[in-house]
Amino acid sequence: MSPQTSSVSLISPRGFCAGVERAIAIVDKVLEKHGPPVYVKHEIVHNKTVVEGFRQRGVVFIENPDEVPSGLPIVYSAHGVSRAVRSAAERRGLKIYDATCPLVSRIHAGVTRLRAVGYEIVMIGHRGHPEVDGTLGQSDSGIYLVETPEDIEALRVENPSKLAYVTQTTLSVDDTRHLVNLLCKRFPDIRIPEKDDICYATQNRQDAVKEMAADCDVVFVVGSLTSSNSNRLKEVAEMLGTQAYLVDCADDIDPRWIEKARRIGLTAGASAPERIVRDIASRLQKWTDGEVVESPPVVKESVHFSIPKDLL
Ligand code: SF4
Repeated sequence: MSPQTSSVSLISPRGFCAGVERAIAIVDKVLEKHGPPVYVKHEIVHNKTVVEGFRQRGVVFIENPDEVPSGLPIVYSAHGVSRAVRSAAERRGLKIYDATCPLVSRIHAGVTRLRAVGYEIVMIGHRGHPEVDGTLGQSDSGIYLVETPEDIEALRVENPSKLAYVTQTTLSVDDTRHLVNLLCKRFPDIRIPEKDDICYATQNRQDAVKEMAADCDVVFVVGSLTSSNSNRLKEVAEMLGTQAYLVDCADDIDPRWIEKARRIGLTAGASAPERIVRDIASRLQKWTDGEVVESPPVVKESVHFSIPKDLL
């Protein structure tokens, strides 16, 4: 393609969050300690590159603890698991390594605490997402999923004066605010969480895209189709009127997408490795003959989660 003067802006913060770094470190350590095969409940994080890399090193991704051969360990993915999954693994006597993001575990603990004192819970989230299944699965009853304004309208609860809500950690900040407003209108006594459930990484990556996308002709989000927070980043850019593409790697990009682009934004979901971002940046630089510029972060992140003591 013919060279043109362009720039590729690396949007920041982007890429790995503290929960993903911890989950990957846990699988690395379990591989080191026990050797392959290592069984992981669900994809450890929703990223094709990361998952394929682990597969090649002998990690087997399963959905049911019954699939783990006796005597081998099981790792729970960053998305967390239901109580039923925990019980199944415990019944089998499997050695458990829990890579659930601590921010998801905090929501699980909140659901358990509130159910114990008689609250019903409304969860805002996407049906079928493993984090949602895990959080809904913290209680056998009294927890309801809503995805849309219609779901809120149709919701029936036992006691509207003892109701609380939680959200999936990786939702669109703006869509969620809208749903929370509707919930509060429908159930004025609903208990507001002390702290937002949408995690810092989701919030920061969306804020960074909001800051940059309007000035870009096209935005690339590095992330897999299954990654909730990556999909939301693409939507944020699109909401600002900018063409956006979700790509797993440089080979996914069609050069025609950038034919007329002068400024290209590049970001990455919380489970996408930085080396893929760099690879895509160099490919775009080669195609456009432009420069790659690291944009100042909209916020500096310093969150870190340690791994379980028995893996240190
Ligand atoms: Fe944890 Fe948020 Fe990362 Fe999910 S996206 S693993 S909740 S920090």
